[in-house]
Amino acid sequence: MQMLSTRGAAAVSPSMAILRGLAPDGGLYVPETFPAFTAQEIRALAPMSYQERAAFVLARFLPDFTRDELRAAIAGAYGTGFDDPAVAPLRPVGGRAHALELWHGPTLAFKDMALQLLPHLLTLSGRKHGETREVFILVATSGDTGKAALEGFLDVPGTRCCVFYPEGGVSQAQRLQMVTTGGSNTHVIAVRGNFDDAQSGVKRIFSDPAFAGAMNAQGRVLSSANSINYGRLVPQVVYYFSAYADLLAQGKIGMGDPVNFCVPTGNFGDILAADYAAKAGLPVGKLICASNENNVLSDFIRTGVYDIAGRAFYRTISPSMDILISSNLERLLFDLHGRDGAKVAALMARLRETGRYGVDADVLRALQARYAAGFVDEAGIRAEIRRTWEESHYLMDTHTAVASAVLRDYVRETGDQTPGVIVSTASPYKFGAAVLEAIGGPQAVAGKDDFACCAALSALTGTREPDQIAGLPQMPVRHHAVCEKDAMAQAVLDVIA
Ligand SMILES: *Cc1c(COP(=O)(O)O)cnc(C)c1O
Repeated sequence: MQMLSTRGAAAVSPSMAILRGLAPDGGLYVPETFPAFTAQEIRALAPMSYQERAAFVLARFLPDFTRDELRAAIAGAYGTGFDDPAVAPLRPVGGRAHALELWHGPTLAFKDMALQLLPHLLTLSGRKHGETREVFILVATSGDTGKAALEGFLDVPGTRCCVFYPEGGVSQAQRLQMVTTGGSNTHVIAVRGNFDDAQSGVKRIFSDPAFAGAMNAQGRVLSSANSINYGRLVPQVVYYFSAYADLLAQGKIGMGDPVNFCVPTGNFGDILAADYAAKAGLPVGKLICASNENNVLSDFIRTGVYDIAGRAFYRTISPSMDILISSNLERLLFDLHGRDGAKVAALMARLRETGRYGVDADVLRALQARYAAGFVDEAGIRAEIRRTWEESHYLMDTHTAVASAVLRDYVRETGDQTPGVIVSTASPYKFGAAVLEAIGGPQAVAGKDDFACCAALSALTGTREPDQIAGLPQMPVRHHAVCEKDAMAQAVLDVIA
């Protein structure tokens, strides 16, 4: 199996796609063909551990890695850094749905599921291709990817990781998690702008030959840990298979029964991994794309028009979804347009030039055959957290609440009785102030910083505050750099000088 670029560049192996991150024509790498898992193979996942399921699924998406390489990488990724032996446990939320908890890793958000594995895949890929230069990872983060990447690459030999985050655009805890990172190969820079500015800046650096030349002269080669990297995407396919296997193992479904997944969506990486699982044979009903007030994606799925031109950018209490330009949608567009790279390149050019594009009626029909969509505003997020806590004693973070509320709306609108899985993407303590306010009202948070809020949340709900949060305020800040959004390349050269 080779990897194609969504904009038509020459095919490469999966390991080369991981090493490069982005294709040389600016496109994203996608598999030429999808593996096909049989019903029997999926049923066989039920009694397996998460690590065994991962080895089985990844072998088919990464055919140029050996079983032993994958097994060692998986053991390194999903071991002691996770506080639940199931790695990605599936928990009932009252009687109405299940939550797939993807936040039991070291940084308390689902990004760990991919970023604990990616450094292993990258190092192996480098070895396969005789790469002796230091792999330099550039990351733009809306809050959670940054810390997960720093933690994943921390002191990994032969790698260096530099993270850009929007100044003032992440929570107090998210910022502290990043700027207190130790290690000898990590850098963190605040950008005066929003996440889209940071992401566009990183993309510009990637396509800047002068910057690549400067890196090469220093014995370094650029790569990406953003979800444009195929090595980020494939580890995420695993947990959809795992959730299905858990439902089978618990007797909640029979083999072949469809399951709906409702995914809180920003850059479209998480939900696209579910799409890839479906294309590889997992019995998926609908993929429900859940947006916050930055609802460009849910509008697109409902209307076929992707339009950021007249749209305000909102800073919400689910900041990891405050995104208007969703990179991974390009991979879906490629599949929806018969894998026509020229067509995708034209749509992306139109988006750059006019701020919008529309898809044809037949494409919209194919899109809506697989996807449904909805969005929820700030009051709706708070109401969902409170209601789920009061009705089911299930405590969810603000992002998970977006999915939970959208699934509730979807079931009410459609009457669809297919079992539903809410993809739970962060620990409630990662966004403790907003969660506390949702349950306890504005007076519960008055005068408290994020950390006092987490302590109060623990006292109020009787749930345990993770050590990763409780210890943060005492840790020394090690990264202080700030830059303008059009000076990011120079900022990188400055911090590594
Ligand atoms: C990144 C993130 C999302 C959005 O995931 P995408 O793959 O970007 O769509 C949702 N919730 C949390 C907590 C996140 O960190």
